[in-house]
Amino acid sequence: MTQPLRIAILGAGGLGKGMVQRVELTPDFKTVALVDREAYLFDSDGISYAQVQSLQHLRQHPDSVPSAQAIQDLMATHADEIDVIFVALPNLPVTFIPDVVKQIATQTNFQGVMVDALKRTRAVEAMFTLDETLRDRRILYITGAGATPGFLSTIAAVAAQSFVEVTHVDIRFGVGIANWSQYRATVREDFLHLEGFDAEKVNAMSDADIEAELEKRNGILELHNMEHADDIILELAGICKREQVTVGGVVDTRNAQKPAHTQVTITGKTTLGVEASHLLTLDDATTMIDNVCGPALGFLRQGYQWYRQNHYGVVTSADLMPRGPLPLKTRTLV
Ligand code: NAD
Repeated sequence: MTQPLRIAILGAGGLGKGMVQRVELTPDFKTVALVDREAYLFDSDGISYAQVQSLQHLRQHPDSVPSAQAIQDLMATHADEIDVIFVALPNLPVTFIPDVVKQIATQTNFQGVMVDALKRTRAVEAMFTLDETLRDRRILYITGAGATPGFLSTIAAVAAQSFVEVTHVDIRFGVGIANWSQYRATVREDFLHLEGFDAEKVNAMSDADIEAELEKRNGILELHNMEHADDIILELAGICKREQVTVGGVVDTRNAQKPAHTQVTITGKTTLGVEASHLLTLDDATTMIDNVCGPALGFLRQGYQWYRQNHYGVVTSADLMPRGPLPLKTRTLV
């Protein structure tokens, strides 16, 4: 029998709800759980986007279960009814998501595949400290599998194959969101890369403080030389040295239209010794949901195949190719 993979989504903000929306269009997955800071929602028949789209907090849903430790309670009760997990939580401080993952691995019965959209190099390094624990618990964990790193670093890894030697990978992203409150954690994390800000300072800032800072910048964040895990992921995959990877971007927090194209440039030496560059530009019509949630599902599809072949522990998005969107008959393949 072919059955959809039952996905739990940790975090019900912009990306978490975006994943619910995307899963609804993806027949080989079914959202069975959604969690925020104060409650969780579980339904083995599936959670629809219409049910959660306009909720500010999951506790507003009549069937939600309120809890101050919603992830632990969800997993303690329903771990064996979940196949895969998408982590769409804030990651301030940098060890927050690794700590949550460790708790799931050591304190619940979950076995399956997890995927995150971690951004920072240090966050991916922290995930690797859990490799043995996750292996022991028979969990396959795919880290850095959002847009960047994830989708864009995978494009770079594939395009790099033309070259005898890769000398530079440059990732530039353009993001447009109508209002920063749609993606609070994403925007807060972007602040870390601005001059004069660090995790401690951003963590202590209220939403009003963030708004005041955005106001000073006309809602635009210009980001240069970001500490982004594309570097460690491409180095681990043997594409180039981490210092040969640069990441930057522009985020408009007041306009859904993108302020710049998202582009990946891969430069290297050809067989004839000539320097050449591949340039890939994403269509501006694609959104964060398309470029983060879509690829994360693709990585989960392939990850689940690996999991069924007894692969466990931590891997990065460069270790496996995303699959789909044509649904795989996941359960029938052994
Ligand atoms: P958001 O602020 O919109 O939502 C975060 C959600 O997590 C909220 O529902 C909140 O209630 C919930 N949450 C917070 N603490 C929790 C806890 N202890 N238990 C349960 N739920 C909790 O966030 P967002 O803008 O959707 O971003 C989510 C993550 O995705 C961030 O870490 C961001 O950096 C990352 N991201 C990655 C990429 C990429 O390409 N790699 C792109 C965009 C966002």
